Amino acid sequence: MRIINGAKTIMNLVSDLRSMSPDEKDDFYRSKCFYYQGIVELGLLVSAITTIFFIYSDYMINGTVLPTLLPRLSILIFVAIFFAVTHFFPNNHRIMVVMDFLLGHGMVLCASWTAYNLVDRSNSIEGIIIVNLIWLFIGFAATTRDTVINGIIFIIEIVITNIFNQYTNYHLILALEIPIIIGIMFVHYVMTAYYLDHYRIKQKLELAMVTDPLTQVYNRHLLEKIISKNTLKDVSKDEHIAVAMIDIDDFKKINDENGHYTGDLTLLYMGQKLSKETHDNDYVIRYGGEEFVVILRNCDVNNACARMEQFRMDIENAKDTPVPFTISVGVSCYTGDYSKTLQNVDNALYKAKNTGKNKVVVM
Ligand code: GH3
Ligand code: MG
Ligand code: MG
Repeated sequence: MRIINGAKTIMNLVSDLRSMSPDEKDDFYRSKCFYYQGIVELGLLVSAITTIFFIYSDYMINGTVLPTLLPRLSILIFVAIFFAVTHFFPNNHRIMVVMDFLLGHGMVLCASWTAYNLVDRSNSIEGIIIVNLIWLFIGFAATTRDTVINGIIFIIEIVITNIFNQYTNYHLILALEIPIIIGIMFVHYVMTAYYLDHYRIKQKLELAMVTDPLTQVYNRHLLEKIISKNTLKDVSKDEHIAVAMIDIDDFKKINDENGHYTGDLTLLYMGQKLSKETHDNDYVIRYGGEEFVVILRNCDVNNACARMEQFRMDIENAKDTPVPFTISVGVSCYTGDYSKTLQNVDNALYKAKNTGKNKVVVM
C-alpha cells in the first residue's frame, strides 16, 4: 500500500532526525535553510510587494486611499531591514530564518495597522487565515521548533491586535487558527523529514566524491575541500602538522610478477593499514597510483618521522601482506604554505628512492 510505505518512510526519517547529535542537526538545518532560502525569499518579497496593492481594496472599503497609504507602504521598511541584515550575514542560517519570520510578521503588523484605519474590518478573518500560507512557506527554511514558537507568537499577535481592532470574528479567528497551526506543524515535520532523505543522499555523494573506491581512503578531491588559498583550513596557528608521502617500492614489479589483482590487494592493504595506524583527525589520501599522502594533525616533524619509521618497519616485517613489499617515505613539517610543503615532501621521497629505498627521509 502506497500510503503505508509513505508512513514508514516518514517514520524512518523522523527517527533518523531524532538520533542526530546537536552538531549534525545544526548542519542539517543549515543545509535545509540554504537549499530553500532562495525561493522562500522570493515568495516573501512577492507577498510583501503584493500587500501594497491591497491599497485598492482599502479604497473600496474607505472610499479614500489616504488613511491606509502609510500602513501599507511601511512594509517597505521591513523589506529594507530584511535585505540589509541578510546582506551582512549571508552565511548565518539562524539570522536568515529570523529575518524570514520578521518579514512575515512585518506583513501582519502592517496589515493590523491598516485594519485599524479601515471603517469595516469584517474581512480581517480572510487576511489572518491567508497569512498561514506565509508561515507554511517559511517553514521550508526553518526548524520545527521555529514554526511552533512562531505559531504561539502569531496567536499572541492576534490577541494583542484585537485590543485595537476588535475583529468582527475574533473568536472564530482563534478557533480556526489553533488547528491550522497544529496542521502547519505536522506538514512542516513531514517536509523536514523528506529533506532529510535528500540530505543523506547528498552526504553519501559527497563522501563518494572524496573516497578512493579501491583503498577506501580519501582521494585527491579531498584536497579541494581542506585547502583554501594554498593553506589548510581549520588549523590554528600553533598546531604542529606534518605531511608524509609514502610510495610503494618497485610496485611495477609486484604487478608484473604477481598480476594486477595482487597489486590491487597490496594497495588495499596499504590503505587499510594506514587508516588503522593514523588518528581520526589525520587525513590519508591516495595521491596517485601507489602513492599516499598523509597529513598528520597535532604532530611535529620528529614525531611524524618516528611514526613513519615504525610504519615502514611494520610493512617490511608484516606477515599478512598479499606479497612482501617495502615502502619509501618523505616527511616534512607543514609551513603554512601547502604547495611548498608538498614540494619538500616530494624532494624527501625522491631522496629516499635515490638512496636505496625502504627508508624514511625528512626535509
Ligand atoms: P619506485 O620504487 O621507484 O616507486 O618504482 P615503482 O615501480 O613503484 O614506480 P612506477 O611509478 O614505475 O610504477 C608504478 C606502477 O603502479 C605503475 C602502474 O601500473 C601501477 N599502478 C598504478 N595504479 C594502479 C592500480 O590501481 N592498481 C595496480 N595494480 N597497479 C597500479
Ligand atoms: Mg613506487
Ligand atoms: Mg610512484
